[in-house]
Amino acid sequence: MSVHRVFNFSSGPAVLPLPVLEEAQRDLLALPGVGMSAMEVSHRSKAFDEILNGATARMRSIARIPDQYKILFLQGGASLQFSMVPMNLLTPGTTADYIVTGDWGKKALKEARKVGATSVAATTEDGNFTRVPSQSELQLTPGAAYVHMTANNTIHGTEWHQAPDSGNVPLVCDASSNILSGPIDVAKYGVIYAGAQKNLGPSGVTVVIIREDLLARSAETLPAMLNYRVQAEGGSRYNTPPAFGIYVLGLTLKWLEGIGGLAAIDAINARKAATLYAELDRTAFWTAHADVESRSRMNVTFRLPSEEIEKHFVKESTAAGLDGLKGHRSVGGLRASIYNAFPEDGITALVQFMQEFERTYG
Ligand SMILES: *Cc1c(COP(=O)(O)O)cnc(C)c1O
Repeated sequence: MSVHRVFNFSSGPAVLPLPVLEEAQRDLLALPGVGMSAMEVSHRSKAFDEILNGATARMRSIARIPDQYKILFLQGGASLQFSMVPMNLLTPGTTADYIVTGDWGKKALKEARKVGATSVAATTEDGNFTRVPSQSELQLTPGAAYVHMTANNTIHGTEWHQAPDSGNVPLVCDASSNILSGPIDVAKYGVIYAGAQKNLGPSGVTVVIIREDLLARSAETLPAMLNYRVQAEGGSRYNTPPAFGIYVLGLTLKWLEGIGGLAAIDAINARKAATLYAELDRTAFWTAHADVESRSRMNVTFRLPSEEIEKHFVKESTAAGLDGLKGHRSVGGLRASIYNAFPEDGITALVQFMQEFERTYG
């Protein structure tokens, strides 16, 4: 049976690799050697041990995560991390620095303010978040509890191409929309977290990579489910984990490893983004939202000469099998989310569509 799949430019949940969906489909009724679905298996069983340990080991090897970091699979999305980070790490008498580069960073800061003292180390909101700040713009608090940053700004389409230097202060990174999109030096960070539904798998799983020494900060009085130390000691199984999501995430990591890991996906992502930005830069009909040096490789945001023309673009591109190109309401315009699993064919199709569209409306 042949199935029609559109090119899915959604910002999240987003496209998954076809081989991952095919394997999940093939084994849906019975995992080989297990005789039941990954949805039905006990989270304390040997079969699930293999799924969880396999995903953890692959994550560690693909991203070269040092031994002194724990890898947790939690629930509640990246948004719960906005609260868990300060609840666990912002100890009384200390201040957390926030670098605000978009709406998600603003939300993270808002949650932290409910927990303790915060300081805005930099914000690029004045210019409508078209860029990330330079190192010299950062006003870091000496001895801060941590510095929080957003690696890729999903809504505005900007990205850090080099991590900021936080000195001895742990850097906490929301990497929801660019995790494993290229090589990463995990040792530069205290915590990296990501909702899975953009670059890793289905929604419902959140990955937290945390340096072990930071677990000592988690107070006994925290609710157990919100306590990193409890979650780490429980090996992500303090309670029932999102088992099927972890299974699909494991398949996605296997796919990534199979195509050559982070070096390979880095080259693919560079090529995809370069092709699309080249088209945006070709004529004045298109205007990219982000400043050139801060352009995201994952979320390409752009405007057309009028909102009227943008409406035509959304309608006609959808009809042409290019789905999910409408921009986020806070930026307007268009957004092409082209995460790891987004196929290069889809970039070619979009560029062709753009050229025809410009002939009609330009
Ligand atoms: C999508 C996204 C979030 C929110 O993720 P949820 O899992 O829905 O809570 C947070 N930060 C960034 C950078 C995102 O792209």
